[in-house]
Amino acid sequence: MVVREFSAGGVVLRKMRGRWFLAAIEPHMTRPKKSPKRSDGPRKAPAALVALPKGAIDKGEKPEQTALREVSEETGVQANLVTKLTDIKYYYVRNWGDGARVFKIVSFYLLIYRSGRLGNISPDMRIEVQNAYWLPLEDAPKTLSYAGEREVAKSALQYLKAHPELGDHATDTTH
Ligand code: ATP
Repeated sequence: MVVREFSAGGVVLRKMRGRWFLAAIEPHMTRPKKSPKRSDGPRKAPAALVALPKGAIDKGEKPEQTALREVSEETGVQANLVTKLTDIKYYYVRNWGDGARVFKIVSFYLLIYRSGRLGNISPDMRIEVQNAYWLPLEDAPKTLSYAGEREVAKSALQYLKAHPELGDHATDTTH
């Protein structure tokens, strides 16, 4: 049996000291990765997942509202909607409950930072998100963990190239 899930998320852009950053999170891994056995030397800690904020679309919610809500909950910052970027799709197998195979579609939106402090999240959310930080946008296509999200970052870069005026409304010299 294949079930479907729909989520939405955001690339939150912020310009600081003339450089563009996006809000990245390190979610707690839902499924601990097996680390290969090594006979020599100490075990390396598994690299953290680096991802974009996203979450399930609630009943009656528009995906862009979900993106703004999830960004606020998972990163602590408020943002404004710029445009839709792209949908990404993947399969995964639930490691809980029914063990169903899930076909998931996640709609990503380009958002621009408005207010708030990254990492200012509720104690509940700390269980899901262990870290949030400003990742230089140009590094995102190699730093994000999932191929689909790396493509989302590339499309954000393309959008910025085509719309350099976006920076005019976002001149922000503070941290
Ligand atoms: P949501 O954040 O939408 O509420 P969730 O945290 O319940 O969702 P996912 O983040 O979709 O679930 O993770 C479910 C599984 O899919 C995990 O094994 C995760 O590693 C994997 N996964 C998450 N994002 C991607 C992606 N972009 N490409 C491939 N696999 C992914």
